[in-house]
Formats: sequence, structure tokens, C-alpha cells
Amino acid sequence: MQTEEQTVASPVQQAWNKKPLIISGPCSAETEEQLVATAERLKATGKIDMLRAGIWKPRTKPGMFEGIGAKGLPWLQKAKQLTGLPTTVEVATGKQVQDALTFDVDVLWIGARTTVNPFSVQEVADALRGVDVPVMIKNPINPDLELWTGAVERVARAGIKQIGLIHRGFSSYGNTEYRNAPMWHLAIDMKLKHPNLPIINDPSHICGRRDILMEVMQRAIDLDYDGLMIESHIDPDNAWSDAKQQVTPEKLAEMLDAIIWRKEDVASEEYHAALEKLRQQINHLDDELMQILSQRMKIAEQIGTYKKENNITILQTNRWNEIIEKAFAKGAKNGLSKEFITKYFDAVHMESINHQKKVLDA
Ligand code: PEP
Ligand code: MN
Repeated sequence: MQTEEQTVASPVQQAWNKKPLIISGPCSAETEEQLVATAERLKATGKIDMLRAGIWKPRTKPGMFEGIGAKGLPWLQKAKQLTGLPTTVEVATGKQVQDALTFDVDVLWIGARTTVNPFSVQEVADALRGVDVPVMIKNPINPDLELWTGAVERVARAGIKQIGLIHRGFSSYGNTEYRNAPMWHLAIDMKLKHPNLPIINDPSHICGRRDILMEVMQRAIDLDYDGLMIESHIDPDNAWSDAKQQVTPEKLAEMLDAIIWRKEDVASEEYHAALEKLRQQINHLDDELMQILSQRMKIAEQIGTYKKENNITILQTNRWNEIIEKAFAKGAKNGLSKEFITKYFDAVHMESINHQKKVLDA
């Protein structure tokens, strides 16, 4: 016979399995009062599933607030007891894993600056051996999916069964709009490579500022993310870290209300039939595009033959500039962005050059 405990999922499991999973809390635990008050106000919104707080903070420069340290763990434990919210903390060393677990932290996460370092990830993974706790892994600060995947594998090999991904954007020099460029295509690629891992978006560290949080959150939901992790603070402007990107719990609740939540599917035959028809048209057009592209490459090869016979270079800058200028103009008339035209023609051009090169080398 099953006992009550076996049939009812724990609050952590309920949160972990919920979609969307909404995690919030301060960038850093600063004082007991700040952490408890943030947790209580988050709880009061009724929209938050898990409480986050940075205890150890990896900061880019020394002299910045580097976290309150293990002293903050009892505060987090108290916040959990008072609100019933499961808790999550960033860990970067084996000792931090042990300390966090000693104070009943429910979910651990590996930060972006740790994911880049296989030594650190391995140390965290070793400390997790024999422990049954969900672990979330942020993308590395540099756009490298292999490194992100490597961290997932290290944690999985340590025996952790419940692993989640957090997309927090990537460092890019000279980027002004975002603190960390989202590079959505990379996160989508990661999700496609790991379809069984939930992926959570961290708009706070992508944006670095409050005013564009909403659009990033909506984008993540449109892209079928499994959850959001957003930083919140009772007094954002005076936060000890990441002041510009934090919002009050009430402001966060307002933003969550304003999101258009999308479903992955709906049980309507009419919808499925209509979609199926349109998808067939798209498949058909994609087939045609392939055939046309293949024809285009065959012609490029013929040009290659002439160039070879006459000892002419493959790259003809003037000719290419002419093509691309015409394409921009035509693209604009046909509702295709300059960005797309550039990427598309660059790809076609490269492929064309490769085909010609083969002819020249033959
Ligand atoms: C954080 O979540 O507070 C944090 C330090 O994030 P990241 O590792 O993404 O920089
Ligand atoms: Mn932060």
C-alpha cells in the first residue's frame, strides 16, 4: 500500500514539474529582513513557485558586493519556512554545495561564470554524488553549446536525474541594448539537442535593465520556454547588486499578468486541420527552394569551368555587390528584412564559392 507521502508530490517536485515554473527573489541575499520581506511579498502575489537568492556572488570586478556567504543560508531557510516556497541558490564549489544542502536548499544552480570552467563544474558535480536534488545549469558566458552540454553531462554523470537549463544570454563586446546578448537561436539549438531538459529563461541577466524585461519574457514564452527566473527586490534601486534590473514583487506580478501565455497545443480539430494544410504548403515550398538552390549551384559550377579555363578568380567583388544591392531592394518590396537577405545571400554565396572551388581544384 502506498503511503500518503508516496502519492503526494513534495512542494519542490510540484514546482519542478509545473509549466511555467516561475522563480523569483533577489539577486543577492543582503539582510535577513530584506530576504524574508521579499519572499513574503512574492508569496503574497500567488504567482511565484520558487524563491531564488544569491548567497555567493561571482562578480566581474573585486570590491563589488560578493555575497553575504553561508551566513545568509539560515535566512533563506526561514523565508522558506514562513512562505512554503522551495528555494534555489547558485553554487560554484563543493563546499557551497554542502553548505546549501545543510540548510535545506531545494534546487541548486550553476552560474554562467562557473559553467565555462570544467574544473569547477566537475568539483560541483563530485559534491552532488549520491544527492537527489534538481540542478539548473546556466549557459556559459561565451556562446559555446559544447561547453554548456559538457556541464550537463558532468552533472548527469554524477547521478543527478533532474537537470534544467537556464538561458541568461551571452557576453558580447560592444553590445549596448542588452547586458548579455540573448542569441535566441543558440538557446533554441540547445533545447532541440536536449528535448528532455526543461529550459528556463533569465530575462534579468539578459536585459540588465528593467524597461526591456517584459519583451524578453514574452519572447521566451512565445518560444515555449518551461519557465522564467526573474530577480526581485523590495527596494530595487538600493539593491547591493544588479540594482538596475530588479523589480519589486508587485511590479513582477503585474508583468506576469501582462504576459500572453501560450499553449503548446490545443485539442481543436479545426485548428489542427488548418495548421496541417499550411504546413504542407510550407513543405512543398521548401522542396521547391531546395531544387532551385541545387540548380543555382549547378550553374555556379558551369561558371567555375569557364573560370578555370580562363584562369579567373572565383571571387568577383563587383558582381557580388551588384547582386546584394539588387537583393536588398527586391527584398524590401517583398517584405524580407535586410538582415535576412544578408544572411541568406552570404550563405548562398559561400556555398556557390565552395562548388566553384571544387571545379577549379578538380
Ligand atoms: C545571478 O543569477 O545572480 C547570476 C550571477 O547570474 P549569472 O550566473 O547568469 O551571471
Ligand atoms: Mn544578479
